[in-house]
Amino acid sequence: MPSKKRPSRTGLWLVGARGGLATTLIVGLHLMRRGLVSRNGLMTEGPEVSGLPVPALDDLVVGGHDIRQSTVFDSAVEIYNETRTIPYDKLLLVRDELSEVDGRIRLGTVTNCGAAITKLASRRVGADTRSLRAVVTRIRKDIEEFRASNALDQVVVVNLASTEPPIAKAPEHTDLAALRAAVARNEPKHLRASTLYTMAAFEAGCAYVNFTPSNAALTPALQQLGRESGVPFVGSDGKTGETLVKSALAPMFKYRHLKVLSWQGYNMLGDRDGQILADPENKASKLKTKDSVLSSILGYPLHTHVAIDYVRSLSDLKTAWDFIHFEGFLDYKMSLQFTWQGCDAILAAPLVIDLARFSAAARRRGESGPMSHLACFFKSPLGVDEQDLHFQFHMLLEYLRSAT
Ligand code: NAD
Repeated sequence: MPSKKRPSRTGLWLVGARGGLATTLIVGLHLMRRGLVSRNGLMTEGPEVSGLPVPALDDLVVGGHDIRQSTVFDSAVEIYNETRTIPYDKLLLVRDELSEVDGRIRLGTVTNCGAAITKLASRRVGADTRSLRAVVTRIRKDIEEFRASNALDQVVVVNLASTEPPIAKAPEHTDLAALRAAVARNEPKHLRASTLYTMAAFEAGCAYVNFTPSNAALTPALQQLGRESGVPFVGSDGKTGETLVKSALAPMFKYRHLKVLSWQGYNMLGDRDGQILADPENKASKLKTKDSVLSSILGYPLHTHVAIDYVRSLSDLKTAWDFIHFEGFLDYKMSLQFTWQGCDAILAAPLVIDLARFSAAARRRGESGPMSHLACFFKSPLGVDEQDLHFQFHMLLEYLRSAT
């Protein structure tokens, strides 16, 4: 009798595994598997992707790191109480699966993460006094054990941790030898926790996605390590809300030769991410990735302003108001305003599942280096200058056509 082929299982290792976004993803994944909710929002469920070897949702196994010691179920209840985005009756049906995920979450590191993030960490994380090399090795071992004990073909690591303060340029960012030397000498000054996670992921031979704006997570030196390890990687900062709308709308002005004079954008959000972004240091990372889109699409400098304010009562229901002042025929000035009210985690969770499936398929196909075809998912797409959402989407379609 021919032996029955086991389906290949893919690990999804989430850094920040008990955060709002990760929790929404984990609950949603298990509810989709049971057929209790639709697969809305997942691009990888569309017909364009049918020829690509993406893992089935049933074959994804989730684990990860966090610095807080709660449970995924408790995080989900917190989200239910705040926003009602996670249906409570359905949540109870997958409680056992969520406990299994908890069993695969390990304590992470807050090395050089800044005061706002360090305050979040449980006391056991604060007590970590190991050398940088020992921390990288421990993270790598956590990932390798996860792969071995769950009989996984491969693991995709996704950074969903709180946004770190930006780090100033230093030789450790551009030169892999300098980065390795700093780790060996135990000098954390020019690196952050995200640097150590990425190093460990590449050393463990994993594909890697930086969904956060943290600029220490995928520096040129780390990209060099990714290339040397022969794995695919992509980032940075998921494009899910106001910036997504901007990158779809700004090209319209360009196509019609309407001159944009000013583009003001005000964002308000009230969840833990918003609280961390209220810290001026951490906010600087986000403002940088959000502000770079417009002049790049329009091709000329213009007056722009992006503000992010923490409004506790809004929780994860982010609100953005954009005012666009533009000039048309006879230099006549007109304006457009839009209000975007989206739930951050609901918008982002399916993108992260898509990114994990695309990354796993790329690894299966033997691809390595930056996955430029995934630019449409990011505010600062790695190695791609194109910011126009329409062109970016066509880059993905082109990849899918040539890959299938
Ligand atoms: P969150 O604050 O709810 O979750 C972050 C999680 O990361 C928390 O559980 C925290 O304990 C954990 N964490 C912090 N530092 C860590 C470390 N060093 N190691 C391991 N875990 C760590 O935030 P969120 O809303 O889930 O967003 C997650 C990240 O995704 C943020 O950086 C955010 O800016 C980014 N992002 C989110 C969206 C979106 O939700 N629409 C879009 C783009 C980018």
